[in-house]
Amino acid sequence: MTDDLDLSVLLEERINVPGPEPCELPVLPLANTVVFPQVVAPLFVSRQQAQHALDAALANDRMVLTVVQRDEAAEVVGAGDLYPIGVQSRISRVVRLPDGTINILLQGLWRVSLDDIVQEQPLLRARVTPIADLPTSPLGLEAARRTALALFEKVANLSRTLPENAYVAALNVETPGVLADLIASHLPLDVRQRQEVLEVLDVEQRLHLVCTLLIHELDVLQLEHQLRVEVEQEVDRTQRELFLREQLKAIQRELGHIDPLVHELAGLAQRIATANMPEPVQLRAQEELARLEAMPPSTPEYTLVRTYLDWLVALPWHATSGDTYELQAAAQTLDRHHYGLQKVKDRILEHLAVRKLTGARSRSPVLCFVGPPGVGKTSLGRSIAEALGRKFMRISLGGVHDEAEIRGHRRTYVGAMPGRIVKMMRDAGTVNPVLMLDEIDKLGHDFRGDPAAALLEVLDPEQNHAFSDHYLDVPYDLSRVMFITTANLLDPIPDALVDRLEVIELAGYTEEEKVEIARRFLIPQQLEANGLAGVPVRFGQDTIVALIRLYTYEAGVRELERQIGTVCRKIARRVAEQRRHPHRIVPSLLPSLLGADRYDYGLAEEHDEVGVATGMVWTANGGDVMPVEISVVEGKGNLLLTGQLGEVMQESAQAALSYTRANAKRLGIDPKRFDKVDIHVHMPDGAVPKEGPSAGITIACALVSALTNIPLKRTVAMTGEITLRGRILPVGGIKEKLLGAYRAGITRILMPRKNERDLEDIARHVRRKLQCALVQHMDAVLPEAFVRNPLDTPYQPRKRTRKKAASTAASTAVHSGTTGGAGNSVVAVEV
Ligand code: ADP
Repeated sequence: MTDDLDLSVLLEERINVPGPEPCELPVLPLANTVVFPQVVAPLFVSRQQAQHALDAALANDRMVLTVVQRDEAAEVVGAGDLYPIGVQSRISRVVRLPDGTINILLQGLWRVSLDDIVQEQPLLRARVTPIADLPTSPLGLEAARRTALALFEKVANLSRTLPENAYVAALNVETPGVLADLIASHLPLDVRQRQEVLEVLDVEQRLHLVCTLLIHELDVLQLEHQLRVEVEQEVDRTQRELFLREQLKAIQRELGHIDPLVHELAGLAQRIATANMPEPVQLRAQEELARLEAMPPSTPEYTLVRTYLDWLVALPWHATSGDTYELQAAAQTLDRHHYGLQKVKDRILEHLAVRKLTGARSRSPVLCFVGPPGVGKTSLGRSIAEALGRKFMRISLGGVHDEAEIRGHRRTYVGAMPGRIVKMMRDAGTVNPVLMLDEIDKLGHDFRGDPAAALLEVLDPEQNHAFSDHYLDVPYDLSRVMFITTANLLDPIPDALVDRLEVIELAGYTEEEKVEIARRFLIPQQLEANGLAGVPVRFGQDTIVALIRLYTYEAGVRELERQIGTVCRKIARRVAEQRRHPHRIVPSLLPSLLGADRYDYGLAEEHDEVGVATGMVWTANGGDVMPVEISVVEGKGNLLLTGQLGEVMQESAQAALSYTRANAKRLGIDPKRFDKVDIHVHMPDGAVPKEGPSAGITIACALVSALTNIPLKRTVAMTGEITLRGRILPVGGIKEKLLGAYRAGITRILMPRKNERDLEDIARHVRRKLQCALVQHMDAVLPEAFVRNPLDTPYQPRKRTRKKAASTAASTAVHSGTTGGAGNSVVAVEV
């Protein structure tokens, strides 16, 4: 085997090329190099076939044919595997190495063409004919020679691998063909490029080819050089800085100063040692500290590592607080801060009891308070923390779209920070705070990941002992945290999350409850907060009611708290300015303190009216009553809906109309009338969008009233979805709707029988004043809602003869007698 042309030196230029007589030579196949004429090349011979050739040559006149084999990897080379042009070479030195390979030095002599293979085994023997260079024009040749030399000089200057004397040797070569061969043998070319040079017999062309190769090499070398200079400059700068810093340290030591940087890093090391981290985290911190020590402080990387370490040492790893599960004390704390909410308090205490029995790392589900704003969700969480003696922290998740907000950004990210959970833990300073995650129903998700999935990991006791924040990049134990979540609505929360939650619903407060909360909590708190604790200021009961009715519109008491706060501030100013101030706040003072009243609340109609039925609505601010108005005008049977009715509500209006049409005769309406009139359904507060199917029976009643001219009772309010056959289906928000109706002065409620269970949640005093009728069919609604039952006077077409009219009247009487039968019975419940 012949390998590794690592050195080529021109030996003697004038080797006489013999005449074109063919001769036979042993063949030394070359795998990855070319031996050029007149160039000395060292080679390793390891293959059997080549060693045989070597032996044959040494036994004779030391002449061999060096020629490139086409397949570089072939061990045994056959007749067809060789390039057609090679070089006749003389073996000038042979060294046999202990591992069996032979190191030889070859002197290339002249190009030969391979005419024939005369022997293949055990060595290749070929018949060859020497070939001479082709003559060319001397001028062109000289120009090519000079160009090649000039280029080669540049390459030699830049190259770090060329032998030092390579250019001098080239300069002394007189024969242009040899010069081309010599340069080609020096350049780092692959074997095919070398063979290409070997095969060009026209010397000028050979020089041109070599020039092209030189230019390419020069480009590469120049680029390499530029890179090297840049790297060296950078290394120099860093080393210089290191060196200077070491010098500075030494000088400061001499002068008795302490390097602030050394001081800072020592402080950091101390904090890492005392942070009580788990072992893997501590190891990580120490690694980072070691990196920091080796870095110049002016680099951005230094600041990044420094900030990271600050986070690690600032986080609590073991510190806890409180953790008493004294249920009685907890009950007292809850009562001390909250009026009413008995059911909710009981469930909280049950939850705490379970945690007490199952231990701190309990797998019990996470509490989730669901209810409108201002009903005390946050303050309940605060009270739980107080009762347990733990820190209380709160994170609002409303509008969080990006998973990184929960879990942080990886440190490779510019401006990376830990997520909100880790930030909260740092602020809490203990590993067992009560962590309230607010508004989990408002989590979004988009291309930046799904924060709900990250939240699941936070809340899941199976996983949260090793919570992974992308920034921290070390597991953090959240299993001792008590999580409490809150939401305004349950529906938008992903199911997987709801599964982990123990949902406790807080509905809105009644007016009486609000009055009590204001009297017992909000007013004393606000007086205290505004510096009026010792000042004689009192709020009358009627003032509180006026505040609730005219200045707030909400299910909770947040706005009420704010309005009381405003009143207190105004008084406080007068006290501070030593002006006279009222000692008793009466309703008539409110406009001067708070401005004109802002809200109107629904009230029962003043008269029984035709075409106006009282419905009940549920809004995020609690329940209310809302009239449905219908007018019938001459037209072509169109149904007109106004008041921003949503799609579902429009459909339920259609259903109510269809029901009325289908039952027209029974209801005393001429069926043909529907084609001659337009029906206009309107719900006031036109700018507020309304949606849902629950106004179905209200629309139907208003429609029947408008078409029959029978007035509806003003003290009756109703809710329920209607089917085409007049059946009544259950609806939501019963508690809030009833509270709204109660406030409006309604005395009788018509509601779906299937909603009976919702009545359990209604306060007793409300139940006493509202008579609830549970209905399951329109036939039961009509006698209740109308001043006179429309079913009592079915439609009678005009009679032609007296006799016929009399018989119809008789049959009607019989019919109407049966309609009031058992099927339509009203279940009036005193609840
Ligand atoms: P949420 O978190 O449900 O929006 P908050 O807890 O912030 O409501 O309550 C708003 C205010 O109302 C707080 O000052 C709270 O103390 C007070 N509050 C709410 N419900 C009650 C209650 N039942 N008893 C006493 N104060 C209450």
